[in-house]
Amino acid sequence: MNPAALDAVAAGLAPRLGDRVARGASIGPLTTYRLGGPAGILVRAAGPEDLVAVAEARAAAPEVPLVTIGRGSNLVVSDAGFPGIVVVLEGTFEAVAVGESSVCAGGAVPLPVLARRAAAAGRTGLEFYVGIPGSVGGAVRMNAGGHGRQTADVLVSAVVADLGGTGVPTARDLSALDLTYRHSNLRPDEVVTGADFTVAADDVAACEARLAEIVRWRREHQPGGANAGSVFRNPEGDSAGRIIEAAGLKGLRVGGAVVSDKHANFIQAEPGATAADVAALLRTVRARVADATGVVLTPELHWLGPGGWDAAGPA
Ligand SMILES: Cc1cc2nc3c(=O)[nH]c(=O)nc-3n(C[C@H](O)[C@H](O)[C@H](O)COP(=O)(O)OP(=O)(O)OC[C@H]3O[C@@H](n4cnc5c(N)ncnc54)[C@H](O)[C@@H]3O)c2cc1C
Repeated sequence: MNPAALDAVAAGLAPRLGDRVARGASIGPLTTYRLGGPAGILVRAAGPEDLVAVAEARAAAPEVPLVTIGRGSNLVVSDAGFPGIVVVLEGTFEAVAVGESSVCAGGAVPLPVLARRAAAAGRTGLEFYVGIPGSVGGAVRMNAGGHGRQTADVLVSAVVADLGGTGVPTARDLSALDLTYRHSNLRPDEVVTGADFTVAADDVAACEARLAEIVRWRREHQPGGANAGSVFRNPEGDSAGRIIEAAGLKGLRVGGAVVSDKHANFIQAEPGATAADVAALLRTVRARVADATGVVLTPELHWLGPGGWDAAGPA
């Protein structure tokens, strides 16, 4: 990416966003892996007007790539960083409003907060989100799910700002998002600024008991530490974790990246690990599983920036 184009976009944004725009800020701290290099431009958008400002600044340099980061819980950021605009939502995008039969949440709301706010108000349906450390925007983008439910089951509509267009957030019905297994049709420059979820009234104690059970299950079955959840999508009718474990790959290591002993579909980053370590380990696991079983696993993790598991080069 031409640094002059980034300088021009940053200069265009500075008068409108002040210190909410930064050149070269580190992305790692915004992610659960805590790895990777800097953002060309990091924008902290506090309200819809900031997104309009980004869309207008980018219109002068449409070749500058753009991505939104939520809680960074499904991302590996290249050691070289991301040579474009990284948008992070805050401010008005952190609001939650619980109604009789729906919950309205900003795109930046952490999913466990959403689950707990709904349960505390005696609203059921969103408990499964307590174990998923993403944001509302990331959940819509990824059709996040677990414990027998997925976002498509509870989402009524999302509000989306097209930063390749005007940047003005507009409502989009569930049916327009094409949510399938860990997939939506949203482009990288479309930002989910909020969502409406359907809920039903229930006893607060019953809702909170379901939350506690999900948290207990997660602690028993999934590792803590630095990871970004499931590395590979589950093949139809099987589990990627089961296949990787059966191939004898638990504990396999490249540099500071290691296949978790607790759940084989998690790659942990130990202190000193690099994004290149994670990518190389992912490639090695994929190749070893393919050799052993003929199954070619598809990554669920998203890679941001140059390189990655599908780039040419040694594993
Ligand atoms: C311990 C652990 C357990 C997990 N368990 C599960 C699970 O059970 N089920 C599951 O589905 N996932 C799980 N995940 C993965 C992850 O939490 C989900 O994919 C989540 O939806 C990602 O949300 P995020 O805000 O962190 O997105 P990020 O990781 O920040 O981004 C992921 C993708 O979403 C896009 N994105 C993020 N925010 C927005 C936005 N506002 N608008 C548009 N696009 C956006 C990004 O550009 C990127 O393409 C787990 C992760 C961890 C670390």
